[in-house]
Amino acid sequence: YATIQLQGIKKIYHIGGEELAALNGITTNIYKGEFAALMGPSGSGKSTLMNILGCLDRPTEGSYKLDGEEVAGLDDDALARTRNKKIGFVFQNFNLLSRISALENVALPLIYAGVGHRERMERAMHFLEAVGLKDRADHLPNELSGGQRQRVAIARALVNDPHIIMADEPTGNLDTKSTKEIMEIFEDMHEKGRTIILVTHEPEIAACASRQLLVRDGQITRDEGKGVVMDVV
Ligand code: ADP
Ligand code: ADP
Repeated sequence: YATIQLQGIKKIYHIGGEELAALNGITTNIYKGEFAALMGPSGSGKSTLMNILGCLDRPTEGSYKLDGEEVAGLDDDALARTRNKKIGFVFQNFNLLSRISALENVALPLIYAGVGHRERMERAMHFLEAVGLKDRADHLPNELSGGQRQRVAIARALVNDPHIIMADEPTGNLDTKSTKEIMEIFEDMHEKGRTIILVTHEPEIAACASRQLLVRDGQITRDEGKGVVMDVV
């Protein structure tokens, strides 16, 4: 079923006296278990769309149903609750806290979820193990390679068991070998049934996804998946 239903999504920024339509009418569904890659030139609206999909921001106009619930009009608290329950985030620059260990970074979302210390550590260790970093649990982020840091960030994104994972250029700062390792983890998450939305500039990364969406001037201009190509605009 459609985990994400977008209907006529617009995002207007006011800069000085000018209006800028960062998103100009996005209508699409993303189905449960899909692995969708968002591509498009710089400034086309990918980050704006990801912020809305990730419940970090609201559209100016349009409807966004997440698992059937309208979220476009939620207040900040309700939006944050939905986000923490349903969505895990992975960023280009990892966004780890530098003064705490890999394990404690992974456990962070569980603090906000009110999980007790012992269970936090057990669950965090389980996910560190799943990304192959059990033996690095006590290391600080700056004692890890870029690829290892991103694996810690992925474990953190998974620790709350969200069914949607959103990633903005997750391999943008990684070498070829680490990129391959990280993409294998995404493919594995996809096989396990999670819905993944990933922004990338690189066609080889987008090719790992089951669906490729091209964003241009705030609209989806191409939608391609499993051999089917649709020119939308
Ligand atoms: P992309 O991620 O594809 O590079 P963005 O979503 O960051 O594109 O930006 C889309 C357009 O919206 C750009 O013209 C950008 O300058 C503008 N924009 C993005 N965020 C803001 C903001 N907070 N305030 C004003 N304009 C913004
Ligand atoms: P990306 O590397 O994903 O393309 P951007 O450089 O487009 O990121 O944007 C980085 C951040 O700056 C985003 O959070 C975006 O909302 C904000 N931003 C982008 N363009 C503008 C703008 N013209 N005015 C204000 N904020 C902006």
